[in-house]
Parts: sequence; structure tokens; C-alpha cells
Amino acid sequence: IEWDAATGWHSARVAARRPFEIDPAAAVLHYGQEIFEGMKAYRNGEGQLVLFRPEENARRFNASAERMAMPPIPEALFLEAVEQLVRVDADWVPAGEGASLYLRPFMFASEAFLGVRPSQKYIFSVIACPVGPYFSGGAKPITVWVTEDYSRAARGGTGAAKCGGNYAASLAAQARAYEEGCAQVVFLDAAEQKWIEELGGMNIFFVFDDNRIVTPELGTILPGITRQSLLTLAREEGLEVSERPYAFADWKADSESGRLREVFACGTAAVVASIGEAKFEGGSLRMGNGAIGPVTERLHHKLTGIQRGTEADTHGWVRVVS
Ligand code: PMP
Repeated sequence: IEWDAATGWHSARVAARRPFEIDPAAAVLHYGQEIFEGMKAYRNGEGQLVLFRPEENARRFNASAERMAMPPIPEALFLEAVEQLVRVDADWVPAGEGASLYLRPFMFASEAFLGVRPSQKYIFSVIACPVGPYFSGGAKPITVWVTEDYSRAARGGTGAAKCGGNYAASLAAQARAYEEGCAQVVFLDAAEQKWIEELGGMNIFFVFDDNRIVTPELGTILPGITRQSLLTLAREEGLEVSERPYAFADWKADSESGRLREVFACGTAAVVASIGEAKFEGGSLRMGNGAIGPVTERLHHKLTGIQRGTEADTHGWVRVVS
């Protein structure tokens, strides 16, 4: 689907995947004006294709668009584009545990000009790809690298937007994490390098011995749809949940004292992933006994059950693509 300032959204079409033709002076190539979403289509027990809270992706996409001085796309058009692609690619959606169709809606500035101002032309597109489980180790807890050199987002910056530039800026930290044998990087806040923010592509939760759960508050982090869903489910399960700042120093102290029982990360791609070890310059922390903790397991089971249709969808989160 294309947009220009004179006509708005137009030229919607579904086509076989092929390269875009863009001008070498297209604004996205120079000034990085680009945003995206990540979502999945699952097969439920009846074989129907379902999306999980796609309206939230549409809403977040438009929030990202606003931050990046791009035009919003009507929610109905966003959903129609995603659903049409799911229908066309239905045969690619495998059944079975952990399998799904990953969907990537995105929009970039296509106007050809050199100069720093918002583009007057954009292309919105959705591509799809069948996927298995996100981490190759299966359900095994992952190891993360806490970076004290790089930060992801500062106040007033683009941390809460899902723009390509955020990920470009995180690649050096992610590369270091891989070098250290870790699956993901954990970022601290930019101002003080003190507070835990989020992972390279996931939000983070801490579970304490009194069944309290803490997750960093919104602001500079990406408002994850999985994060928000788990907050709701955890409260329903009778857990006491708070969204508040949590310092890296407290993570260390609470691990040592044994108060911290479980740490897990969450996002569309991996859904819920247990964190078994956190490494950092000059040390490491171990969480749990190498197995997935009971609270992590329970929340994972509940959320994937709703997505797959084996648990009641009491919030109307699942949308059947007909
Ligand atoms: N934080 C970052 C930086 C991410 O890229 C993602 C993945 N979109 C998340 C958190 C989790 O968000 P969601 O649950 O909506 O996938």
C-alpha cells in the first residue's frame, strides 16, 4: 500500500514477494525513517488461523508512526492487509507446538530527496515467514548479557517506538552478547546506567519468593503486547505485580540473598523465555536450578493456551482470520 501527501493511502495489492524499486535518494536510506511490527498467526485446535491482539499491533504501529513523523494507517486497513496475507499464505502455517506464521508489517519513507524533513511518500507492506520455536535450545533457560557500555534509549528518544534505528543502534551490544555466548542483551537506562530496561527484543520480569512480580515501567522501553498480556494474566492468577524501576545492583543482591526466584523475558517471537543466567563484565548471576521456574511455566502455559485455543479467551484477545 502506498501513501503520498496528495492522495493518502492508495494502490493496495497482494503480490508474490519481489524486490522493491526505490530511488537511491529515498529518505529511508539516508535518514532511517522506518517503523515495523512483529506478530504471529497460529493454528488453533480446530485448525483455524488466529491472530493474537492484532489491534494492539495496529495501535502501536501508529504510535511509532507519530513519533517518527510518518502518516498513521487506519487500523482497519492495517488489519485487512495482515489478514489478507494470512489467508493467501494459509498453507504455510504449520500445526503443532511452537510453529506459527511470523508477520512483519512495516513502513518506510520512499520520497527521493536529500534534506532533513519528513518524507511526503511512504510504502507500507507486510511480509510473512513460517517459524518454529525462537530459541534453538527449546524450552531451556537462556543466558543473557547485561551491557554496561551501550544503552538503547534515552528520555525523549525513540525507545518506545518500534523503529529500525533502535535496532541498528543495538547491534553492537547484541554482537557482544553473542561473543559472550549469550542469546540476548539486557539494556540499562541511558541516564544512570543503573535501572534494568529490557532485552534487545523482549521485555523482562522478575519473580520474588513472596510471589511478587516486578517489571520495569513504561517510558523508554517498548510497550510489549506480551508484557501487557502477562501483567493481566499474572494479576488474575493472584500474583502481586508492580511496574516499577528495578536496579541492576538489586538484581545482584536479590539473587545472592535468594529472594529472587525466577527471571523471564517475553515477546511475540519467543512468547515467554526463562532466563537461567545473566553475564556481565567481570561476573555472572545464576537463577534457579537450570529448569524453568513454576511461575514462568504457569504464565507461559496460560498465554500459549489462549493463543492455541486450549485455554478460555476471556479477554477476547484472539481474532479468527476467516
Ligand atoms: N522490547 C523490544 C525491544 C522488542 O523488540 C520487542 C519485540 N517486539 C519486545 C520488547 C516485546 O514486544 P511484543 O511483546 O509486543 O512482541
